[in-house]
Amino acid sequence: MIAFRTSIDEQLSLAREELKKLHDYPEEEFMRIIKEVGFQCDLCARCCTRDFNDHVFLLEKDTEGIQQIDPKTIEPAPYYELCDQKGNFYVSGYALKTKDDGSCVFLKDRRCTIYDRRPSICRLYPYMLHLEADEQGNVAWRQISGLNLHGCYHADIDDEDCKVIASEVKAYESSFLEQRIAFLEKAKKHFADRKLRHVQGVYDREMRLFNKGGEINVSVFHKGCFIEHTVKKDVSG
Ligand code: SF4
Repeated sequence: MIAFRTSIDEQLSLAREELKKLHDYPEEEFMRIIKEVGFQCDLCARCCTRDFNDHVFLLEKDTEGIQQIDPKTIEPAPYYELCDQKGNFYVSGYALKTKDDGSCVFLKDRRCTIYDRRPSICRLYPYMLHLEADEQGNVAWRQISGLNLHGCYHADIDDEDCKVIASEVKAYESSFLEQRIAFLEKAKKHFADRKLRHVQGVYDREMRLFNKGGEINVSVFHKGCFIEHTVKKDVSG
């Protein structure tokens, strides 16, 4: 689980640093890994379930597309980045909702019902390029999600396709970090103007209440603004 336990300035500096490292990441190295792994989708549809993939994060353009299909299918993305002293949470974007069985709202009979209009991350999965800490806390690049847990391997992916995948994934990760940086910059100003501050103790307290079924307020960053939502977790099951 992602945990944000740092101030806005620290989160901003980490995001900017990762964006710079991402730009510097050699595309040839990424292409080599894509070719060596040779991932091939076997249509198991597990990547469209919460058990396998925690949530489907939406870039702003994805949110706009999904809102046109059905605005009721989105919700504030989980793992809110900030919480002010009044107990209001802040997050950098939306995510797709899941059904009670944990599968994506758009999954039916193991097929995506919005395939031609599916979000960016669904088009690129399982490829990724971001820094992540392992169980020992060592931070390193991850390029392929769920390795050896789904799909087939050692398929022959030609060089041109490897190049396209590498470049599209880098562009996606860059947009993701840019959205996060824009969110943090907006939050920094929002907090300063209103004399708010991120308080981890309040974050933890409100999360405990939320996990027991309490309501919380979450402001979602979208198109340069914060959109307020009231969120309640279904703890009946
Ligand atoms: S939008 Fe489609 S591809 Fe993406 S998780 Fe949902 S069902 Fe799967």
